[in-house]
Amino acid sequence: MKNLTKNILIGFSLGLIFGISINLINLDQSEKKFIIEILSVGGEIFLKVIKMLVVPIVFFSLTSGVANLNELNTLGKIGIKSISLYILTTFFAITGSLIFANLLDPGKGFNLKIENNDITISEPPSLNEVILNIIPNNPFESLVNGNMLQVIFFAILLGSAISISKKKELTKFFNDFNLVIMKVLSISLIIAPVGIFCLISRTFATQGLGSIIELAKYFFVVSFALFLHVIFIYLPLIRIFGKVKVIKFFNGMKEALIFAFSTSSSSATIPVTLENLKKNFSVKDKIASFTVPLGATINMDGTAIMQGVATVFIANAYGVDLSIIDYLNIILTSTLASIGTAGVPGVGIIMLGMVLNQVGLPLEGIALIMGVDRFLDMLRTAVNVSGDSMVSIIINKSEKK
Ligand code: ASP
Repeated sequence: MKNLTKNILIGFSLGLIFGISINLINLDQSEKKFIIEILSVGGEIFLKVIKMLVVPIVFFSLTSGVANLNELNTLGKIGIKSISLYILTTFFAITGSLIFANLLDPGKGFNLKIENNDITISEPPSLNEVILNIIPNNPFESLVNGNMLQVIFFAILLGSAISISKKKELTKFFNDFNLVIMKVLSISLIIAPVGIFCLISRTFATQGLGSIIELAKYFFVVSFALFLHVIFIYLPLIRIFGKVKVIKFFNGMKEALIFAFSTSSSSATIPVTLENLKKNFSVKDKIASFTVPLGATINMDGTAIMQGVATVFIANAYGVDLSIIDYLNIILTSTLASIGTAGVPGVGIIMLGMVLNQVGLPLEGIALIMGVDRFLDMLRTAVNVSGDSMVSIIINKSEKK
């Protein structure tokens, strides 16, 4: 793993240099297209291999984790604690980002006019829908479609039934399968450095640097709000309740964070997050395999922060004054939207459409920030994964007591 980390960092740095050079060097359009196509294939191969493992890892590790529990009420406690922490931190994230964005007021210089705002977008999922959607119609369909909340629901039920019926052989089967699938992960990770090189250089080769400069203020406010959330919410929580030193946290989670940053997908990062938590923080299987996939599905603090700042930015750009009711609406919608968001690239910005719709802001505003969203997606996904890991470590600590 040590060598792997080093190689990943090398792949990442080379990708950065290569991507920026492609962008700056005067290449023929056709040459540039060719290089980007090769990078895309390399990056996609890596992403597909990792994504392929997400559902089997979550299913087998959670079922085996629960099947090994002797007392099932432990699981109930873990569930209530983690969901409360996830929702509480998301609430802080969105509220903090709204306050921060209002202090710095990005977007004031734009002076845009609202034209026809007739693009319709679906309503945010209601609480009812969110809850009902957790129960699968057919668990096999949920596995095939990779519907994480439904897979979690079914795995818990199955694991509990195995634990109650005391079928030792079945528990052993799931434990063994879990070990084997983690081995498949270790083997697959061999290609990670090259995959990350391709992903990073493609991003930096395709996104013009000019658009970043134009939206520097928006970019800065979102990045700074993400940073503040980590410093003032995550780090104190991890130090006080998780009893883990800040340096140790980042050191132990660095692979997962680099993965999150490079793939912009908390879901695709699940296998690495699990591995880091179990190996470097001795988080118990039953806790990690429950909190991490759940977090990657419902806990998106970084996304909520982006949505808060983006809403203020778009309101400013179009000269719209938001009322207190609007702000409350944004807090509620963003929290619900983040629960309903899958941890895959670019979903946050789609969900932003729902938030804008809710407070009557023009959806065209999304186009303003689309150019820099690719980069912010990387940062916020790393924050999303830090949040999941923090909760996992805290719950592990509290369960030890
Ligand atoms: N890419 C983010 C994630 O996977 C979601 C988003 O904000 O687009 O965590």
